[in-house]
Amino acid sequence: MGMMEKARRHTPQKTAVQAALERSAHFISAQELFGRLRAEGSPIGLATVYRNLNELVEAGAADVLQGDAGEQLFRSCGDAHHHHLVCVDCGRTVEIDPPSEEWVQQAAADHGFVLVRHVLDVFGRCSDCEAARAQLAQ
Ligand SMILES: [Zn+2]
Ligand SMILES: [Zn+2]
Ligand SMILES: [Zn+2]
Repeated sequence: MGMMEKARRHTPQKTAVQAALERSAHFISAQELFGRLRAEGSPIGLATVYRNLNELVEAGAADVLQGDAGEQLFRSCGDAHHHHLVCVDCGRTVEIDPPSEEWVQQAAADHGFVLVRHVLDVFGRCSDCEAARAQLAQ
């Protein structure tokens, strides 16, 4: 059993998925990552990409959030606690500091909650995407 688990954790596919994810500073969909791997000549299947991405999220090696169309978007992030500022058009991501981590604790305590975890992400349109939109509107 231990052998199987080890094999699962260290498959070449997972290494490839993780490496491709680390090359992207943006949040990207499984579909997009799959496209990149295939373009590089990888024979990997979409289901395998999904499975490996979810395993990376479970292991804390990747963050996941929901895109505008309801699709899951993935990013390889640092271990330290952080928040995201994400472009809704291209997925460009900046790690930002919220006004105060204490506020989160206090807000939970004020309502009699014991804080377990929190997610605070901010969504907008990056300057490139905003410029592209302005261009289209002309
Ligand atoms: Zn992150
Ligand atoms: Zn953008
Ligand atoms: Zn926080």
